[in-house]
Amino acid sequence: MPADFDTIVTLAKKRGFVFPSSEIYGGLRSAYDYGPLGVAMLRNIKDQWWRSMVTMRDDIVGLDSAVIQSPRVWEASGHVASFTDPLVECTNCHARHRLDKLDDPDRCPTCGKSGTFTEPKQFNLMFRTHMGPVEGAGNLVYLRPETAQGIFINFENVRRTSRMKLPFGIAQIGKAFRNEITPGQFVFRTREFEQMEMEYFCRPEEADDWYRTWQEERYRWYLDLGMRVDNLRLRAHEADELSHYSSGTADIEYRFPWGWDELEGIANRTDFDLRAHAAATGKDLMYFDQETGERFYPYVIEPAAGATRTTFAFLIDAYHEEEVDGETRTVLRLDPRLSPIKVAVLPLSKKDELIAVVDRIAAELRPRWDVEVDITQAIGRRYRRQDEVGTPFCVTVDFDSLEDGQVTVRHRDTMAQDRIPIDEVVGYLSPRLAAPSSLSLPTGSSPSPSGGVASK
Ligand code: ATP
Repeated sequence: MPADFDTIVTLAKKRGFVFPSSEIYGGLRSAYDYGPLGVAMLRNIKDQWWRSMVTMRDDIVGLDSAVIQSPRVWEASGHVASFTDPLVECTNCHARHRLDKLDDPDRCPTCGKSGTFTEPKQFNLMFRTHMGPVEGAGNLVYLRPETAQGIFINFENVRRTSRMKLPFGIAQIGKAFRNEITPGQFVFRTREFEQMEMEYFCRPEEADDWYRTWQEERYRWYLDLGMRVDNLRLRAHEADELSHYSSGTADIEYRFPWGWDELEGIANRTDFDLRAHAAATGKDLMYFDQETGERFYPYVIEPAAGATRTTFAFLIDAYHEEEVDGETRTVLRLDPRLSPIKVAVLPLSKKDELIAVVDRIAAELRPRWDVEVDITQAIGRRYRRQDEVGTPFCVTVDFDSLEDGQVTVRHRDTMAQDRIPIDEVVGYLSPRLAAPSSLSLPTGSSPSPSGGVASK
């Protein structure tokens, strides 16, 4: 059963994962702020992506390019002309909709009337602003609608300075802005969001192989972080869905409460972007292969994921309710690598002697992990609170701890408890917080993405 949308949104707000932006001013529907737990989880997701894409590989390097770039970038890339969605307006209630996302293209979902839409108009999604004190056509700039172009325009800088040879990739995480016609479904579609994109440059004849490889790699990343295989699928785009730069795109889709929807797109961008920037600037962006003496434009395979959207999907996927002793227990079964708090240290009571031990343990754990000390309310309530935000372990200090120097470690998923010496807590938690063996897939035994290939 997919988790109920409203339940997740309520939990996210109530526990400080996500707040509506500008809430005290009545909110701004298309933007959200990430609270203490949300920012920790979002950061964990970005860290895991960076680790798998950059840190663990010798063929990919990182980049952090500017949000505001020369407007000529977006002319050359085709975004000024083609980064559009079809907009229709209902002549009855004046609601505006994105035509390609409507279940019934004739019926207004706001007022329910049929046949009331205007002719579709292509609406450009880029945010515009002005650079400098004078507003005018000469000073028009755009907020980047994708991080990718920052990579293409730095292709030669990165290649030259890092001396990378094909095939190699450049990865970037950062904000992107799209003036979406209909933002919605909480943080799924917002006008300001974060992307995790990597452009993998390769020889044109190897592009098809890399396109397949990156679909598999990226699909496996979600599974490795504990996403349920039944909720994940790969879907190849139909020809009429392809972006203006793409010769092939496959989406990794998640089964959201409203149905299958995109988490990440893997596209074969061919040599479209490098050629376009070379033509617009007159700069030589070809690759020279020293071994063969050939000069050519590399092809590019791009896995483009949304960090904020992915965070939402992992929250939904982890949400779990179960009956325990006649009460409902809510547990976020997050992979510990994604959990905002890794360990909660709890005294059984507020007595000073117990709190002193708690503080000592917390101080030892803090340099390693995100730790929370919680001293209020009954211990059962505190366990439930930690379960609800996905804290994998609680370490409880009781009166016996003062005598025997031992504490109880409680496991979130099984609620099993182990009694261990205080000076063994770090050693006990370390392997369990790194990458749980039950969740990380041994190489070669992962479910094949082709098993999940779907048609639209
Ligand atoms: P859609 O068809 O849903 O508008 P897209 O195909 O245009 O998305 P891409 O250009 O492939 O999206 O962007 C790559 C990723 O960036 C998406 O898979 C998604 O995770 C994320 N993303 C795109 N638009 C948004 C948005 N408005 N809000 C949050 N995340 C987004």
